[in-house]
Amino acid sequence: MSCILCASNVRDSVLEGLSVGPEYRDIGRPILYGDELVDVACPSCGSRVRQRALAQLLARAEPFLDRSTEVLLVSASAPERLLVSKYWRRTLHVSLLADWKDPDCLTNVDITDMPQIEANRFGLALALCVLDYIPKAGRAVAEVGRTLKLGGTFIYWIQPYRIDHRLGSGTKVRSWQAYRDPDHVYGNAGESRACAGSSIPDCRFGPGAMAGWAKGAGLIPGIVRIRDHLSELSTVFHTAKKPHDPGLLR
Ligand SMILES: [Zn+2]
Repeated sequence: MSCILCASNVRDSVLEGLSVGPEYRDIGRPILYGDELVDVACPSCGSRVRQRALAQLLARAEPFLDRSTEVLLVSASAPERLLVSKYWRRTLHVSLLADWKDPDCLTNVDITDMPQIEANRFGLALALCVLDYIPKAGRAVAEVGRTLKLGGTFIYWIQPYRIDHRLGSGTKVRSWQAYRDPDHVYGNAGESRACAGSSIPDCRFGPGAMAGWAKGAGLIPGIVRIRDHLSELSTVFHTAKKPHDPGLLR
């Protein structure tokens, strides 16, 4: 038992801000992108950095969470769904391609255009490692924002290696051969052997892009930074909150 998700003693230590001790570190499976450490899988439960960071975020925010609301999940893996189910009973899971082994997942849903989903429905929306593959991610943020209730929040996370400081607030499609996470990536061209020619866009975003999407959609941008106890990597969650009174925004 090694991480905040699978060990209660580690969870308590992390939430208290204590060092969890070397016996819990440096034992996960490192995941590299080129020479860069981008993730560490928990040796016990297989959790990734983003899931452990979300666990920390939700645990700390618990007193402020509305547990009666409905949550929109986009392309959510099993550990992510398990974590969310500890806080919320009502979720709608949507995905463009795979069903993520979730029989309740609504597939063929393009989050840049979801006419089948009514406006002002969700109190929270989560898309971790999803906008990475959407060249018009601003449209996705606006469309998910449409489905949020007033005061609702969209949390999105993009893999850090996709941030390109030369791009300002712009977006560039590096290739059309991306596929999911870096452990599926082979070769120095950064191409996936499994999905070569997959037509899945491998996007790069400027550091100003994420907040720009929120502002462009009339949402309030924010950032939450979480340090991971297994890898020491920092996870940056971007948030876009739907204001109760847009007239008060500056
Ligand atoms: Zn674990």
